[in-house]
Amino acid sequence: MRAEGQCIMPGFVDSHTHALFSGSREKELGMRVKGLSYLEILGQGGGILSTMKRTREAPEALLIAETLPRLKRMFRHGSTTIEVKSGYGLDKKNELKMLNCVRNAAKIVPVDLVSTFIGAHAVPPEYKGRPDQYIDHVISILPDFRELASYVDIFCDKGAFTAEHMHRLFTEARELGFGTKAHVDEIENIGGTRTAIEMGATSVDHMVKTDDDTIELLGNSETIACLLPATPFVLMENEYPRARDMLDANCALALATDMNPNCWTENMQFVVSLAMLQMKMSIEECITASTLNGAYALGVADKCGSLEVGKNADILILDAPNHLHLGYKIGINIASTVIKKGRIYSGAQGPQGT
Ligand SMILES: [Zn+2]
Repeated sequence: MRAEGQCIMPGFVDSHTHALFSGSREKELGMRVKGLSYLEILGQGGGILSTMKRTREAPEALLIAETLPRLKRMFRHGSTTIEVKSGYGLDKKNELKMLNCVRNAAKIVPVDLVSTFIGAHAVPPEYKGRPDQYIDHVISILPDFRELASYVDIFCDKGAFTAEHMHRLFTEARELGFGTKAHVDEIENIGGTRTAIEMGATSVDHMVKTDDDTIELLGNSETIACLLPATPFVLMENEYPRARDMLDANCALALATDMNPNCWTENMQFVVSLAMLQMKMSIEECITASTLNGAYALGVADKCGSLEVGKNADILILDAPNHLHLGYKIGINIASTVIKKGRIYSGAQGPQGT
């Protein structure tokens, strides 16, 4: 094939998603537009817990059937490696079911999937008001997930889990050989970012409310900040991660979709637009953050994230004469061809054969 007049780049590495779930939460958009906050929607039975209910009820076959079209669309938009988290089961049986589905989905889609166990995503109804006991439970079941997940994650924020919970969870996770990641500083800075960095987390994700001292600490660490600008966008918030301050402090940044029922974008190209327009990142910084740094955030930079001899031929061809069209064209798909491990997927509707 020829790619004359087109732009070639590495496939996107989407390093933070919750792409496996059942159902949808379209009614919550109207609630948000009316001014209800995320925590208020959660209080009315929406949010994570409503997706938990649907996901618990869904048999494996249904979960996979609902998820595959999403993963295929993500691939058609240029993502060749995607992280997928559990976190809507919130008990051992259903968290195992979710990660088993990720493993089975990976056999069908032409995308490499990296699995993360986030049993500590929210406190399930069975443990309402008892987050300490729930963390004890999550720690006790960690060994059962060793075969199914590369990373352990936690939602460490107001209304969820504390830095102390994270410390206990990560201590055990590291002992078992998991990599660690954390959702931090999305709603409030409660100190979890510092704990995660000090414990050698692979990535700290969201990072909207991060303070100067923590940015400095991050810049002197190996931990990557995974920024998710689609999340404040759908929450209609004016505050985005301080990408420029982080870059000035020598932090390594990754960009990801955060694809989930509350932030339903499957399109890394759109994330690049948001990163440029809302966080003032340059297109070059965005490309690094959405490819190679995403691969580092998933521990797979030896295999993908850049076009180098010895890595997989995971290549994205843009229907554009240069890379400046990425980010500039908003919310549309300019991928003309996606090559995954040397196999070519192309066509007028985007990559075919998936
Ligand atoms: Zn997330």
